[in-house]
Amino acid sequence: MKGFELHEPKTVKEAVDTLTRIGPNAKVLAGGSDLVSGVMKDWVEGSGMPIPTALVDITTIPQLKGIRAAAAGITIGANTTLTEIFESKEVTGKLPLLAQAAHSVASPLIRNYATLGGNINQRPRCWFLRGPDFDCYKKGGDFCFSVGGDNRYHAIIGGELCYIVHPSDTAAALLALNAQAKIAGPAGERMVPFDSYFVGPRENILNENVLKANEILVEVFIPNPAAGTKQTWLKLKNREVYDFALISVAAAFTAAGDVWQDGRIVLGGVAPVPYRATAIENQLKGKNIKTSIKQAAAIIRTVARPMSMNAYKVDIAQNLVERTILQGLA
Ligand SMILES: Cc1cc2nc3c(=O)[nH]c(=O)nc-3n(C[C@H](O)[C@H](O)[C@H](O)COP(=O)(O)OP(=O)(O)OC[C@H]3O[C@@H](n4cnc5c(N)ncnc54)[C@H](O)[C@@H]3O)c2cc1C
Ligand code: SF4
Repeated sequence: MKGFELHEPKTVKEAVDTLTRIGPNAKVLAGGSDLVSGVMKDWVEGSGMPIPTALVDITTIPQLKGIRAAAAGITIGANTTLTEIFESKEVTGKLPLLAQAAHSVASPLIRNYATLGGNINQRPRCWFLRGPDFDCYKKGGDFCFSVGGDNRYHAIIGGELCYIVHPSDTAAALLALNAQAKIAGPAGERMVPFDSYFVGPRENILNENVLKANEILVEVFIPNPAAGTKQTWLKLKNREVYDFALISVAAAFTAAGDVWQDGRIVLGGVAPVPYRATAIENQLKGKNIKTSIKQAAAIIRTVARPMSMNAYKVDIAQNLVERTILQGLA
């Protein structure tokens, strides 16, 4: 691995100032499970994705760690580890969906040091992107190798130029829970709903979210779900060991008896961003879930545009949506 400068700021302002001073060759470092032991170790680089020359380690900032419950909801610092999240009584009590999603990530060892901020902002897993020989669009090149290559794990919805699937399990859960991100940058802090945090390739092919190079995710705020909200998570993996989602479904919804009132359904593993299935949500509104879910889940077929090797994911997505919602109702 190439050498790099290491900066250890003690405050968010110091971190932002350091990122601003050094420029785009400086990267935020949290647990390092993706950045150091993935991207940098594997020399994933290109003109649009240079290997960082400086790392700004934000785990030295005490403000970024911890879980705080208040009247309106729960705030989780970006440096809180995934294990701390699913072991928290506040989170398991009020946000079981997030606890389950965090628990489903990777292995116990990784969850012990991987942070929420790192999980949300991790880079995609496309094997061409991670391979040194493929100078694709996302690295600043002029080609997408997944179109004519092995695309069995790629996007079935919303792929355009680039067909990655967003890899974060917690991101899907946070979107379903209507959470917001607090971002710090040179101009101060701003709140961004997760509805508009992630961006697809048409908007920015070189990044997967709205963060600028000198901004950091400070914390995540999850409002208290409405009383009686059903929260449910299912993740299908290719292997019976730790693995990324082939498809995942995060759902948070209210029902009067078996009748859908309101809620959110978010799919992971299908699109370059966590994909909110609003058409399915709208189809269910005011309907008996048990008798309507099959037809509603089939709507995924009308938006899916599978590639040459991944049409099987459309069937899985449809079935997993159905199973997840019925599991939540039970
Ligand atoms: C074997 C393996 C299996 C995995 N399986 C899964 C899985 O099933 N599901 C899943 O969701 N993930 C999975 N992952 C990914 C893993 O969860 C992430 O690598 C981890 O969560 C990243 O957290 P980190 O703290 O180590 O981040 P880092 O590696 O330090 O950072 C990751 C990225 O986020 C940026 N970043 C980190 N924190 C911030 C912040 N606060 N503000 C702005 N940018 C920030 C960094 O600059 C970097 O680009 C797996 C990883 C491995 C190695
Ligand atoms: S899907 Fe995206 S990351 Fe993968 S080869 Fe195509 S452009 Fe690169």
